[in-house]
Amino acid sequence: MECRRCGAPAAYISPFSGVPLCDRCVAAVVLRRFRRELCRASPRRDERFYLLATGDRTETLVALDLLIRVERGFPSRVTMVGTRLLDPLRAAALLGEGMAVVPYSLESYLADRLARLASGDLAFPALEGQARVVYPLSSTPRAEVEAYARVRGLPVTRARYPRIVTMLLKGSPTSLFAAKRFFGNISRIPAKPGI
Ligand SMILES: [Zn+2]
Repeated sequence: MECRRCGAPAAYISPFSGVPLCDRCVAAVVLRRFRRELCRASPRRDERFYLLATGDRTETLVALDLLIRVERGFPSRVTMVGTRLLDPLRAAALLGEGMAVVPYSLESYLADRLARLASGDLAFPALEGQARVVYPLSSTPRAEVEAYARVRGLPVTRARYPRIVTMLLKGSPTSLFAAKRFFGNISRIPAKPGI
């Protein structure tokens, strides 16, 4: 199987287009998508980014690598903040100034949202309202995050997701994006005071 773009041996079939791609071409797509998602959040020229290090080493290091590459040439600053013991969204709300970057892949983003629903934590739209928070990897499937990590020589750790996310993963990629859109719409509901 050859990469449809460059002819190198392909290790990956895009779940969206069904096109075989090599790691390098996947990594290029991941970089482009990351840049687009970050721009959409309208960062300032001299932005202060706080990358929230979640428990997932691969996603955190990939997001850090991408953030540094995308922001090269800008007078912005990147700081990594450990949030292993703290909910990333609560950490983002505490940071105040600056833009919080949460490194979740598509699957991790969904796992986080489903866990909040399951535990009855419906405060996340309010928390997002208190922080400037961006999820620039949340349209990128985990397999593509891992391909990027391999190309850049970053460690690839095994991801574990709750059963409901694994079930969603067995469905079509469209169902993952439909689920993501659903949570995106919830996040846009204006928070009422006291919630
Ligand atoms: Zn290729």
